[in-house]
Amino acid sequence: MANTQGVLIHPSVDNGIKRGNPGFSGGTLTCKCATNPVKVRIGAQTAHNHVCGCTKCWKPAGAIFSQVAVVSRDAVEVLENGDKLQVVNKDAPIQRYACKDCGVHMYGRIENKDHPFYGLDFVHTELSTEDGWSAPEFAAFVSSVIESGVDPSRMDGIRSRLRELGLTPYDTLSPPLMDAIATHMAKRQAKPAPAETRQGASPEPARAAPSASPAPHQSPSPMPPTRESGSIVTRLLNRLFGGGQR
Ligand SMILES: [Zn+2]
Ligand SMILES: [Zn+2]
Repeated sequence: MANTQGVLIHPSVDNGIKRGNPGFSGGTLTCKCATNPVKVRIGAQTAHNHVCGCTKCWKPAGAIFSQVAVVSRDAVEVLENGDKLQVVNKDAPIQRYACKDCGVHMYGRIENKDHPFYGLDFVHTELSTEDGWSAPEFAAFVSSVIESGVDPSRMDGIRSRLRELGLTPYDTLSPPLMDAIATHMAKRQAKPAPAETRQGASPEPARAAPSASPAPHQSPSPMPPTRESGSIVTRLLNRLFGGGQR
């Protein structure tokens, strides 16, 4: 077991993980501007909260991981100073709306309806003063912290500290999220299995309300099946999140 003394992950977890409150129903995120901050109301509890080592998520100064969760896009509402928001990279699969004055990302949104996580926005609940948000459950894209400048020799200590905190480290996403992506891709690529032919003759149902699970099967997509050699996971993540990272 590597020495975890002094290993810092993120201020929200370094002193232990605060439990979520299952009855919690949302709060307000505020950017770091001292005057005219951007305020975004999140009208629901979040899901799949985790710490993330990718280079794209917003992190507080000094942290090597971000903390990020998802919530239905319907639950996200800009309350104040929305004119200060701008998209960090319009070409990225996730459009991250950042305050142009302080740089904080207020929410990340997916506009591609074929994306497995379409309908979910990415939010940083540490920007809220309310308690009760869903607790972080795992660590994603852990190896990517090396791309942010972390010395590879520190990885044993970082992974050990994450395990100590109960945040199982993954170099992609957690198994439930990877399974959700794979299920989505499989459904889009496969012909209906014999046991799963269409129910009834009704037309394609209207899109279900976005929820904490990925959007239901959509009609055939412009995204081709992955056929190339090499790491399928890497290619998939590149396509979904850009650069193997979010
Ligand atoms: Zn700001
Ligand atoms: Zn990330």
